Amino acid sequence: MPELPEVETIRRRLAPLVQGRTLTAMQIADPRWCEPLHPSALTDALVGRRIERLDRRGKYLIWEAQDEVFLLLHLRMTGTVLYDPAPETPYVRVRFALDDGHRLSFADPRRFGTGELAFGRPALDAFFKARLGIEPLGAHFTSDRLFTLTRNRRTPIKAFLLDQRRIAGVGNIYANEALFRARIHPLRATGQLKRRQVAALRDAVIGALSAGVDAGGASIDDFRHPDGVKGAFQNEFLVHDRAGQPCLVCGATVVKFVAAGRGTYACERCQPKPRRRP
Ligand SMILES: [Zn+2]
Repeated sequence: MPELPEVETIRRRLAPLVQGRTLTAMQIADPRWCEPLHPSALTDALVGRRIERLDRRGKYLIWEAQDEVFLLLHLRMTGTVLYDPAPETPYVRVRFALDDGHRLSFADPRRFGTGELAFGRPALDAFFKARLGIEPLGAHFTSDRLFTLTRNRRTPIKAFLLDQRRIAGVGNIYANEALFRARIHPLRATGQLKRRQVAALRDAVIGALSAGVDAGGASIDDFRHPDGVKGAFQNEFLVHDRAGQPCLVCGATVVKFVAAGRGTYACERCQPKPRRRP
């Protein structure tokens, strides 16, 4: 599932290719993509407008068009944006044409990806305020801020990290990697973490996400770069997907279990289990 680094990878690759271009056509092949809006609501709002900026918030890719019209694209499970895709590309749900003759496709085998609209910056801000917490690669993600967010929370820290309303953009892979880096067990009660552990976790979240961005994201399912190339972060996992293999730090065996409903990997020597399970 694409997380912040995968969306950021798409944004970085696509931004120089689409910024300043005008959208000349848009074809929505699957109306479920933009429900409850009618496809014509999106095409009417966007076609003919220049794309001013490609931005990102959490796992959302934000297309800022002229006159503060925003297309908010979420890739969900298997979505990806392709630039000049091969004509036989499967699972294409939306097609875009640019005024320089290039084309874009949103391909999505599982069809959970979504397209939404916001008109004007206040509407955009309200949209995200209702859905997303702090941006982990932004300036406001300090250890003091994270410490405040974690107080009085009895939820296990893994579930806390996955909650987009607390921290935006962290999914299963990067939560596993960040907790390993911070040497915190995924089932530790969030509110019981000490200040120094929260500080380590803040650095670990940034470290794991930045490593993912630097590697062009992780390609374990359908994620591809806009040019079809796969990301390489799956070759750099410290703990994720390494069950039964030796911990890269201490040599103990990495274990897999379910936490927050997701496949969770940890070294229980480096990340000691809580004494009492929350
Ligand atoms: Zn270890």
